[in-house]
Amino acid sequence: MSRLLELSAVELAELFRQGELSSSEIVDSFLEQARRWDGTVGAFLQLDAEQCRAQAAAVDEKRRRGEKLGPLAGVPIAIKDILCTAGTPTTCASRMLGNFVPPYDATVICRLREADAVLFGKTNLDEFAMGGSTETSAFKLTRNPWDLDRVPGGSSGGSAACVAARMVPLALGTDTGGSIRQPAALCGVAGLKPTYGRVSRFGLIAYASSLDQIGPLARCVEDLALSLEIIAGHDPRDSTSYPGEVPPYRTLCKQPLEKLRIGIIPEQLEQIDPAISQAIREAAKVFQELGAEFREVSLPHSEYAVACYYIIAPSEASSNLARYDGVHYGYRTDERQMAERLAEERRLASAGKSPEEPDPPLVRLFRQTRSEGFGPEVKRRIMLGTYALSAGYYQAYYLHAARVRRLIRQDYDQAFSQVDVLLGPVTPTPAFRIGERIQDPLAMYLFDLFTVGANLAGICGLALPCGFTADGLPIGLQLQGPPFSEPRLLQLGYWYQQRTDWHRRVPPRLRSESSPAGVSSNR
Ligand code: GLN
Repeated sequence: MSRLLELSAVELAELFRQGELSSSEIVDSFLEQARRWDGTVGAFLQLDAEQCRAQAAAVDEKRRRGEKLGPLAGVPIAIKDILCTAGTPTTCASRMLGNFVPPYDATVICRLREADAVLFGKTNLDEFAMGGSTETSAFKLTRNPWDLDRVPGGSSGGSAACVAARMVPLALGTDTGGSIRQPAALCGVAGLKPTYGRVSRFGLIAYASSLDQIGPLARCVEDLALSLEIIAGHDPRDSTSYPGEVPPYRTLCKQPLEKLRIGIIPEQLEQIDPAISQAIREAAKVFQELGAEFREVSLPHSEYAVACYYIIAPSEASSNLARYDGVHYGYRTDERQMAERLAEERRLASAGKSPEEPDPPLVRLFRQTRSEGFGPEVKRRIMLGTYALSAGYYQAYYLHAARVRRLIRQDYDQAFSQVDVLLGPVTPTPAFRIGERIQDPLAMYLFDLFTVGANLAGICGLALPCGFTADGLPIGLQLQGPPFSEPRLLQLGYWYQQRTDWHRRVPPRLRSESSPAGVSSNR
């Protein structure tokens, strides 16, 4: 495997700026890696080599002319296919948006373009980001580069898998209940869910608006810091975006660590796969060596987090997804067929052969469009959400969940009055087999136990690779901090990665099939 593929985004940007590498060379190497591996991994929904090369050539030209270069100049970044990219299809991995080409860029995309990054393809996800394995995608399966029979996690599974498989140094994902941190953990890469409001969501196709956040995935923490610095900040087009200054994350993450108090929740480590609790305990020792002091804390309402999330998220989804009616944009059922069938039904009804009067054509258009356009998991969420919001049930479900959410937030406030950050697992088990849980929604939902809390409370969370199971599957740890404590999380992550090399490990398959026997290209 080419050494270039092992470099971080920060290193690539530096080599480009110094004139050591051209963006065309960089992009060609990653395109070659994607050509070799993406047929197997399936991380991308679209990857247009010509478009990538044209962007690379443009930034090479900019450098040649001596123009000022942005902080990610020449470096490729993959984009989860839920973020609008002008002129390029944005599908949310749904038939419903299979033919949708947005006329505008999401704010994060504009900022990446201003930073001179090369937008490198759109990645696979669970349909409308609903899921934790990328298996609900209407278009393709994404495989975990560490074990091709296993899921990459989700919903940003394509973004995590392409970073793990060295097809790109950096990717954007979104996290509503864990969708950046979970796939990062399962694929052995780093991922950051920023504080609610930190990054503008203009142009992010909404799943659950009080929970959604955009964030980066990369192998090293410094890359997360650099990309957050680029995408964060206030945006007049997203009224939920935070008006405060964007700190210089990349500089801050390298500051020496001062004394820190880290909280650990003992019950969490008892409920999970023993290999994961062992890896977290080992990680705690590293943080201790770095000068952190540990304290036991509790989040007493965390046992209700999954139930609370699976009322709130589907409720918001049912409202957000009401816009897909086959009229404004996106998929529309075959109207000719529909009209023919309707005529037939009317004929039967008037002949007294059918007890029911057929629906009026418009109602039928909505119904048929939606039943053909959405997959089963999305329909399940819409039904759950519509039920939870319906008259008579609203108080029992939605309102109740909103109150529990408040208690969960108070638990975090209480914990953060005693410690600076929390250390714990991302997932209860490592990556599971493809097909193993997809028929069991409850098992899928329970997998979100350790990630949904941060979204419900609006705080930030960082997932980092911290070990492997005996079968060679990656294990992730999670650091959670109070709102806007990204500098601290990134700083802890940065120093952790200075002491460990989990993030440098390469999936064995990628190593063995592409470099001569006995020669490892791992740095
Ligand atoms: N697995 C969770 C869900 O299905 C989280 C998804 C996400 O963060 N987008 O809702």
